[in-house]
Amino acid sequence: MSEQPHYRSLEASEMFCQRCRQARPVRQHLLLVLPTGNKYDYRCAVCATSVGSKMDSDASDFSTLLSGRK
Ligand SMILES: [Zn+2]
Repeated sequence: MSEQPHYRSLEASEMFCQRCRQARPVRQHLLLVLPTGNKYDYRCAVCATSVGSKMDSDASDFSTLLSGRK
């Protein structure tokens, strides 16, 4: 019940949702912060079913974690 008030970005991209059986706008959730990049989970904005995930190669968040800065 602790929704973060600041989503990094509400992208307008859509992905096919198997539950809705049509393309739906997705919300991006940060799952893991790794040395090699961040892993994101994408969920249907309508029914919250996970519709996919993505890794990026941005290691800056991990460096921020290591340094203990906010
Ligand atoms: Zn859906």
